[in-house]
Amino acid sequence: MPQKRLTAIRTEVTEQLIIRFSSGDGGRTVNYCPDCDSETDWISFADARAANGCGSVSICELIDRDEIHSSLTAEGHLLVCAASLGTKILKGEQNNET
Ligand SMILES: [Zn+2]
Repeated sequence: MPQKRLTAIRTEVTEQLIIRFSSGDGGRTVNYCPDCDSETDWISFADARAANGCGSVSICELIDRDEIHSSLTAEGHLLVCAASLGTKILKGEQNNET
């Protein structure tokens, strides 16, 4: 009777988060964020929503709680601090509301 042979295969999985901006460099603004106390990328609300993968309500709630930083332009466009948004994503604190 042939002997059974057990082979263990160990795999390692890594995950890389890539945030792409749909409107290219034209949709990004580098500016000072007083909450981060540094220069950061500012992205549009739509790009922030796409990067976070959650609904508009969740982004608004995070802004209301000052968990992500925002700024309103003179034209009335809401920009989101990419550094604070990235921190929320990396901490896995995104909300999956739609
Ligand atoms: Zn910031």
